[in-house]
Amino acid sequence: MSESRASHVVVIGGGVGGLAVAARLSVKGHRVTLVEQADRVGGKLFTYERDGFAFDTGPSLFTLPAVYRDLFLKTGKSLEQSVDLQELDPAFRYVFPDGSEVTLPGVDPAKCATAFGDAFGTQVEAQWREFTARGAQMWHLTRGPFLQSPLKGWKSLIPLAKVRDVKSIAPFTSLRTLARKYFTDPRMIMIVDRYATYTGSDPRRAPAVLATIPYIEQVFGAWHIGGGLGVLATALEKRCTERGVDIRVGVTVTKIDTQGGSVSGVRLDTGEFIAADIVVSNSDATLTRDLLSQPDQKLMPKITDSPSLAGFVLLLALDGTTEGIAHHNVWFPENYNAEFDAIFARSPTPPNDPAIYACVPEDPQMRPSPDCESWFILVNAPRHDSSGENGFNWNTPGYKEQYAQQVLDALAARGTDIRPRVKWQEIRTPADLERNAMAPGGSIYGTSSNGPRAAFTRPANQSNIPGLYLVGGSSHPGGGLPLVGMGAEITAELIGRAEKPSP
Ligand SMILES: Cc1cc2nc3c(=O)[nH]c(=O)nc-3n(C[C@H](O)[C@H](O)[C@H](O)COP(=O)(O)OP(=O)(O)OC[C@H]3O[C@@H](n4cnc5c(N)ncnc54)[C@H](O)[C@@H]3O)c2cc1C
Repeated sequence: MSESRASHVVVIGGGVGGLAVAARLSVKGHRVTLVEQADRVGGKLFTYERDGFAFDTGPSLFTLPAVYRDLFLKTGKSLEQSVDLQELDPAFRYVFPDGSEVTLPGVDPAKCATAFGDAFGTQVEAQWREFTARGAQMWHLTRGPFLQSPLKGWKSLIPLAKVRDVKSIAPFTSLRTLARKYFTDPRMIMIVDRYATYTGSDPRRAPAVLATIPYIEQVFGAWHIGGGLGVLATALEKRCTERGVDIRVGVTVTKIDTQGGSVSGVRLDTGEFIAADIVVSNSDATLTRDLLSQPDQKLMPKITDSPSLAGFVLLLALDGTTEGIAHHNVWFPENYNAEFDAIFARSPTPPNDPAIYACVPEDPQMRPSPDCESWFILVNAPRHDSSGENGFNWNTPGYKEQYAQQVLDALAARGTDIRPRVKWQEIRTPADLERNAMAPGGSIYGTSSNGPRAAFTRPANQSNIPGLYLVGGSSHPGGGLPLVGMGAEITAELIGRAEKPSP
């Protein structure tokens, strides 16, 4: 049921979820104020520039653009009129420990299957076709009733209650187990495993339904945005401003106030109080709970699920170009399980020999000249905890420099030695992400999808406190640009139109 009333909405946080919901609510007639603690909006979505080199320091892969097409069209000009959307081909290059590799196009499942066939044989090609067909089934079953609908806990499964549908989704099967049913080649199992990390999870615990991700990637494409994905945040900010959203940066919300059980406004670190009928928090759900007074905290759902993994990032300005490089590149390690064991252990440590991902855009706006490259390297990492009790202390003096060297040495050992070409490098640890984007522990996606319950126990978009809503990676339906965009749409629909539109 939507709450239909004239209102002043305060959005806490200007990540992509906060911006998307602000734009949607402004066209529904609400007066919207967005408050962001950093000196810019975008949160994790950001393109960093230095000396003509540019790097996406958060998302580098844009999938399911339909979510943002809908948002841009419904709030003004189309996505294509607002950003330079570029289809990638080739998009992905996977390199395996035995030196074999496969390069895949950005869109077209049939072409992908053929690429797998050319690289690993016709049996793998046929298996991939069957696997993506299963991903398609799962996508069609879950998209409407679960991903694009408000969360109703386990009741969300009711529309899927047909035995055949439940069997297809296999809610109690892990992604790894599903991969083993379809593939015999260990390289294909590594590729499927990697999709669990797209939700910050361990493939041995993440649900089989994540097989929808490769399906989505291939059917709807892998995209780049000219100048970097951060341009999407700038375009969203512009859209919000055009629609009359009042964006205030460099100000932190320190408290959500309630009156008579409903939200009444927010308090800022400046001491100012902003009255609000509705508050939408784009802050992490755990932090949102802490913004409430003690009795109100009890009304927030218990957030029990394991946090998502974090990321260790290297930004590298390189001389020269790399033969055979694609936009997205992954070098797998000998023992992928060891990476998940290290990250999700009780006392986690950075993996010794991690999978290495590099985004190397062939984008003239992201490098000073064609004879050099901007490399964004991302390695999965344990979350940050300065006490070392619930994570790894990424502030340990000298550690990040040593680990950066370890990553570049590992890359060289896997056949790509970029060490002599480094002009300069910058390191971003999970501790930096925690500080800059208020992401607890530097978690990339909020909570992980580890375990069959995870998807159903994420905080819903409408809280138990009247007038308080949640949006962003730590709430339903989860993290990553597509899901965060879907969450913003669900939240805006739950709030509904203002009865008396703001002037
Ligand atoms: C290294 C990395 C790589 C990634 N790669 C991909 C990828 O390739 N593709 C993909 O789709 N996704 C990727 N993601 C995930 C994606 O970036 C996130 O899921 C998404 O951007 C999160 O958006 P959000 O709306 O949850 O907000 P966030 O980006 O988490 O922003 C929340 C905002 O709220 C602000 N805030 C919090 N509390 C307060 C407060 N009290 N007062 C004021 N402001 C506050 C914060 O400063 C922040 O700006 C990646 C993330 C990272 C970090």
